[in-house]
Amino acid sequence: MYVYYSEIFKKHTPPFRHPEAPDRLDYVIKGVVEAGGVVKEPKMREDAWRLIYSAHDKSYVEYVKRLCGAGQAEIDGDTYVSAGTCDAAALAVSAVMEALDKRETALVAARPPGHHAGFAGRALTAPTQGFCIFNTAAIGALYGGDGIAVVDIDVHHGNGTQEMLYERDLLYISTHQHPATLYPGTGYPDEVGTGRGEGFNANLPLPPGTGDDLYIKAIDEVVLPLLMQYDPRAVIVSLGWDAHKDDPLADLALSLKGYLYALSAILSLQKPTIFLLEGGYNREVLQRGTKALVRLVAAGDFRPEETQTDSPLHVARRYEEIMQEVRRHLGRYWRL
Ligand SMILES: [Zn+2]
Repeated sequence: MYVYYSEIFKKHTPPFRHPEAPDRLDYVIKGVVEAGGVVKEPKMREDAWRLIYSAHDKSYVEYVKRLCGAGQAEIDGDTYVSAGTCDAAALAVSAVMEALDKRETALVAARPPGHHAGFAGRALTAPTQGFCIFNTAAIGALYGGDGIAVVDIDVHHGNGTQEMLYERDLLYISTHQHPATLYPGTGYPDEVGTGRGEGFNANLPLPPGTGDDLYIKAIDEVVLPLLMQYDPRAVIVSLGWDAHKDDPLADLALSLKGYLYALSAILSLQKPTIFLLEGGYNREVLQRGTKALVRLVAAGDFRPEETQTDSPLHVARRYEEIMQEVRRHLGRYWRL
């Protein structure tokens, strides 16, 4: 598996202390090196900007370009732009295009993240863009076209990806902390897509405190059955490590065991899979998680040195209630 990485991804720099900072990638790359992974510099594609313009609103793209030209700027209280943001974002899109063209499994270790960026910036009802500039995962899905699935395992709902793919028959599955308890406040089970996209948007909100036991159940009972029935040509994984119990920004309680279970399940489809970095703010988790992922892809099996986490009883009860809702809405389109 190639790991697409460039120093250009570190040129997206915050004006103040910020959890989404360039050093995150240093830890990701440490994990790659420890696992013996191969780092490859992506090539900037001439058609990357054309693709960004075709996926996002033109005036939004031009606004971001102006901010890059001006140097340091803030889009909102969470989301910043710096002089290097536009090159970093276009190179991230280029890397996903290259991996899709080569039909290969790859890790795209890029910033800025993207899954909260909607058609014209802030997506759906979110208060901010949540550190995201352009939606690399959705852009990649639109570029790949028929048969692409996006699986979003970041702890936050990928509201931007949902918005951009909502009327498309490209499968989007998101597991995330329940929107009543976390930014961006969307990602309920009744959001199933519309028009041609009806049935192709699957949200699995998880109660705070969800551990590996329930997460594994959700993968087995919903995520994997949907993926197997959709039978994707390629999969883009919005890979956020912030559902880990040690992440400072959210309240799920996964260990790397839960993560590796999900990643193995996706890889079991044996389709080209692009793991695209989104969130994850505990640096040590970024390093160890990436190491585990690279080993998993290389060796087919890897057991991280973490104990499986179990959910408390009240969390398990709430989970069952939510899963009934999920089945009620998605069961109209899929065998669950
Ligand atoms: Zn996140």
